[in-house]
Order: sequence, then structure tokens, then C-alpha cells
Amino acid sequence: MNVYDSEQIAFQLVAMGYQQTSSLEKADLVILNTCSVRAKAEQKAFSFLGRLAKLKKKNPRLIVGVGGCVAQQEGAKILERVPHIDLVFGTQAVDRLPGLIRKIENRRCRIVDVAMTDKPDPFDAAPAAQDHNQVSRFVTIMRGCDNFCTYCVVPYVRGRETSRHPDSIIKEIRSLVGLGVKEVILLGQNVNSYGKKEGLFGFPELLARVQTIEGLLRIRFTTSHPKDLDQDLINAFQANEKLCNHIHLPVQSGSNRMLKRMNRKYTKELYLDKVAKLRDTCPEIAITSDMIVGFPGESEAEFDETLDLMKKVEFDGLFAFIYSDRPNAPATQFKAKISEQQKRERLQILLDLQETYTKKKNEASIGSIQTIIAEGFSKRQSSGGPDQPNPGAQWTGRTTTNKIVNFYHNDFSGSCDDISPGKLVQVKIEKAYAHSLWGKPVEIESTAKGSKGEKSYAA
Ligand code: SAM
Ligand code: SF4
Repeated sequence: MNVYDSEQIAFQLVAMGYQQTSSLEKADLVILNTCSVRAKAEQKAFSFLGRLAKLKKKNPRLIVGVGGCVAQQEGAKILERVPHIDLVFGTQAVDRLPGLIRKIENRRCRIVDVAMTDKPDPFDAAPAAQDHNQVSRFVTIMRGCDNFCTYCVVPYVRGRETSRHPDSIIKEIRSLVGLGVKEVILLGQNVNSYGKKEGLFGFPELLARVQTIEGLLRIRFTTSHPKDLDQDLINAFQANEKLCNHIHLPVQSGSNRMLKRMNRKYTKELYLDKVAKLRDTCPEIAITSDMIVGFPGESEAEFDETLDLMKKVEFDGLFAFIYSDRPNAPATQFKAKISEQQKRERLQILLDLQETYTKKKNEASIGSIQTIIAEGFSKRQSSGGPDQPNPGAQWTGRTTTNKIVNFYHNDFSGSCDDISPGKLVQVKIEKAYAHSLWGKPVEIESTAKGSKGEKSYAA
């Protein structure tokens, strides 16, 4: 979500006449977009802001702004804490940003704008930025959250849930596709409630409409709240041929007492039932999740219940977080806090267990042929991949199940020039690592079948 918001901010700045620079030293304006979902993200934001003091000393005309959730949460306090900040703008002030920056340019004043409205405000996004050359892009379809999980700061810093009008979403995706984008990731804190408040149609219907966009190959979304995941959305994994075979379904804990204290409004039994329904409908679906360890009052036995749920589900991947107190979140007042050391120990146990499943799932794909969309050169250009001395450029892409696949283009028997970002490539998987797969390209676009990638196993 922050990546998407940063793109929107950058678009507004470019429209004002600013140009992006990759060098902080050359910047006339620095905007830090922040996240406050966990204490660590907030600490990182303040330490980055602190480092900007030197730049401001060298160039007193430098404008420094801070936006996003930390800005929303702390407001004017940031000006006191960080004397070289010129602008603090909240999560609902992005549209007002150009006006705020012009004021600072003209009057050299300091501004705080963290105004928020509780009224659903149908929002529109700026047109897709032109200077991106990406295959996959985020598209926000909803903002805010009404769920009030007791550990979470989001409802307080992002406001009430609001859905974006489908026409505006479709328009943005069409324009992205026009720029060469092949995959969109639809974003909302709980996509299951898309359109409900506004009396629009529901999320499965939105998916069906997005599917009709010509030139778009794949659709992903995040996040679906388990309490609201219904059969219509589950069926979409079968009915919608562009919808990828992957769902991120955050469970947070395997203990019913913890889930109740977290205000998640489901039980572990209901969660397991939804997982079973997903796998019945779409046997190939990859399921990933979020887990919080050390929630206040979590006993050893309750932590074991989380491990037990992981053993039952065998997630494809897991984001595990150490619980941290957040301002305004009710759990901050809960007693029986777990010690930092115990939280770290539990996190390690959980990560070790997950690694066995991630490895097992990755190894199961050895021998299969997976369709990926070539995204570009891999960040890690090795001087020689597995069993190969320096075989050339290393490409990367993702399977429909969201697993990273790397390959060398000159392993392809046809013309290497045929591989370019956005092309569908069929890759025969030969090796599995902890966080990626390795294979050889066997077919490129014109012959590659659907974008989901039917799994066919080599003899
Ligand atoms: N809306 C999504 C949902 O309900 O699943 C999650 C959004 S939240 C921004 C991302 C993840 O951060 C959560 O799923 C949770 O695991 C984690 N998280 C949120 N607040 C936290 C806290 N106070 N301490 C640790 N982890 C937290
Ligand atoms: Fe936070 Fe819960 Fe809303 Fe997700 S559903 S953003 S965890 S309050």
C-alpha cells in the first residue's frame, strides 16, 4: 500500500515540475513515506529522518516532508522531535500535497496537515506514472479499515474503510496495461467487504470485470480477512482464468482465546474450514499467512496451538511478526506482556517450522513446468548458477502461486532475444531453494499456454 501511495506522491511531484533523483545529496525535496504498523518500522523512519539533518545543514533550502502512517499518528509532535522537518502530511492529505509544498517553497514555513474525515470519501487515483517500466503494479481498490483488531494501528491512521469506484479502478488498470503492465495486485485491508458500504457490487464481480481487460495476463489481490472469505470468492479461483492460484489469508494465531482477544471474529476451526474449501475448489492454490507471536497473555500451550495449526495447514509461506504495542491499539493496555526474549524464541521456533514446509512445497515443484511472466534481470546476477560457469544474464519471474523462478536466458534453445519483460515463459523446474526455484526455459509466449500455467510433470 505504501509503494502505491509513494507512486501517487511521485506522480504529483513530477506534475509540479520536480524530477526524481537517485541521489539524496542532489535533492531539493525529500519526502519520506512511513509505516507505523509495527514499532520497528516507526523507529526506522525516525532514524532516517535524523540522518537528513546533515543534508539540511548543507542546503538550507532543502524541503523535508514526512507522510504516511507515522505522520498521521504523531502529527505536530514530529516538528518538535525533528527540527529540520518542514512538512508533516497525513494519509488523507496526499491530494493536497502540491498546495502544501508550494506554500513552503514561497513562505519557507512549517506545515502540519493530518486532517481526516470519517465520511466515506470516494477517492480517485492519479493516472499511472509514465516513467515505470514494470510488469506488475499495485492498484489500491479500498482504503482504511473498520475491523479494529486489538493489536492494529491501521484503523486509527488510515481511517474508515472506503471503496473506490469500479470505473476508476478499471480506468487505471487499462492505462497501466497500455504502459506494458501484465499483472495487477489489487490492494485493500479486507477485499471481502469491497463495495458493501457504498452499495457497489462485490469483490468477485470486480474481479470478473478486471478479467475482461485485454492485454492483462494476471490478477492478484491482498488481503482477504478469513472471517469474510465467502464461497463466491473461493469459486473465483476456478472461474477467473486470470486470477492467480495464490491467496494470502492472515490467521495471526492458532489459539481461539488469542483470536478472541485479538478481535479477529473467527475460530481456528473456521479458518481450517476455509482452507479446506479453498483446496477443494482449487487444489493447486498456494496459501500464505501472517502470524503474530507473543501477543499479550499468550501461554506456551497457546503458542503450541499456533504451531499445531501450521502443521495442519502447511502454508506455502508465512510472514511472522513479534507483537509490538501500538498507539491507540487496545492490546497496548492488555496485561501479561510477553518478554522480548520469549517473543524472539517463539519467533525462531515458528520460522524453523515454516522453513520445513516452504522447502517441502518448493521441492514438490521440481520436474514441473511452470508458466512465469518474465519480470526482468534478477537482482542477484551470479557469476555462475548451479552447476554452470557464468552462463549469462539471469532472469526472474513468478509462478501463478507467487513463487520466484530464476533462469538463464541462454539455457533457452530458441532465440534468447525472444525473452523480454512481460513475456510468458514456461520454465522446467530443476532446483528448489529456501526462497526461490531454479529452472530452464522451455517455451516462450507464442507457444506458452495460459498465464496460470497448467502443471505438467516431466516423465
Ligand atoms: N488487513 C490485513 C489483515 O487483517 O490480515 C493485515 C494488515 S497489517 C497492516 C499486516 C500484518 O501486520 C498483520 O496481518 C499482522 O500480522 C501484523 N501486525 C499488525 N499489527 C501488529 C502489531 N501491533 N505487532 C505485530 N504485528 C502486527
Ligand atoms: Fe489491521 Fe485487522 Fe484491519 Fe487488518 S483487518 S488492517 S489487522 S484492523
